[in-house]
Amino acid sequence: MTARIIDGKSFAEGLRSRIAGHVERLKADHGITPGLAVVIVGHDPGSQVYVAQKAKQTVEVGMHSEKYELPESTSELEVLQLVAKLNADPSIHGILVQLPVPPQIDPKKIIEAIDPAKDVDCFTPASVGKLAIGLPGPVSCTPLGCLMLLRDTLKDLSGLHAVVVGRSNLVGKPIAQLLLRENCTVTMAHSRTKDLPAIVRTADIVIAAVGRPEMIRGDWIKPGATVIDVGINRIDAPERGQGRTRLLGDVAYAEAAQIAGAITPVPGGVGPMTIACLLANTVTTASLINGLVPPSDLTA
Ligand code: NDP
Repeated sequence: MTARIIDGKSFAEGLRSRIAGHVERLKADHGITPGLAVVIVGHDPGSQVYVAQKAKQTVEVGMHSEKYELPESTSELEVLQLVAKLNADPSIHGILVQLPVPPQIDPKKIIEAIDPAKDVDCFTPASVGKLAIGLPGPVSCTPLGCLMLLRDTLKDLSGLHAVVVGRSNLVGKPIAQLLLRENCTVTMAHSRTKDLPAIVRTADIVIAAVGRPEMIRGDWIKPGATVIDVGINRIDAPERGQGRTRLLGDVAYAEAAQIAGAITPVPGGVGPMTIACLLANTVTTASLINGLVPPSDLTA
């Protein structure tokens, strides 16, 4: 079998154009322009590229974008004061503080200071709790992106066995919550799991969120299973020239694609969905803050 490739790049393009339509309607019918503020502290080059992409795509879908680039020496108090200002600003509906932050700043304190109503990354304890008990609100961006791709690929997830490899607060845990909501039977695996290959072989859906290049091999995959590879691992690639790198997922793609029913590539799978889902979440929070029902095609 050769797997169907789940094209996250083109799905994300379609999602962004749906988001642009919702933004236009919010403006025309309710006078609301969803606004997203992104805060970056310091000069991490990866974060800067990512934040620049977020700001660009925010504007492209017609939203209001604010970008705060603070120096490496910024104090925790200064970031807290900025978050408080953004919490109180009615033109801002989503606040994202790009992690990691420099060591003098406690990321937990910053996250807890964000108004949960504007928590588009779904990091605050209030947002995590809402997700767990199924209340409306934003859903963590990468997990939401995975769910959208799965729904599009499989239509009905009910009763399927999903194995989530990785249990981080950012990816593994929220994905497991979402899959439970879809009536999957969910197994969570992690670094202490015994005989991981045997567990993965029982999965109708495999979610790989480990951060180890090509750890999940082709012969771990059940024939016909759907494989969502969240992993992004940057590997040296001297064959492409000095200092060049390439991206690998957590799944041995060439092997797994011979056995799976459908699979996300890296790059071009889950990655492009994350920023698109951040924009979707900003439409969701802008709607909820204004007492409107969020568009159902943008939420979990
Ligand atoms: P973390 O490092 O926070 O978590 C990794 C998880 O993998 C942990 O739960 C860990 O288990 C588990 N793990 C590590 N080694 C093994 C092993 N040998 N066998 C089984 N489980 C193992 O990573 P994240 O969740 O933040 O990210 C995971 C991957 O997803 C990374 O490659 C990251 O770059 C990528 N990512 C991609 C995004 C995107 O937009 N596509 C967004 C966010 C992340 P334990 O808990 O026991 O330590």
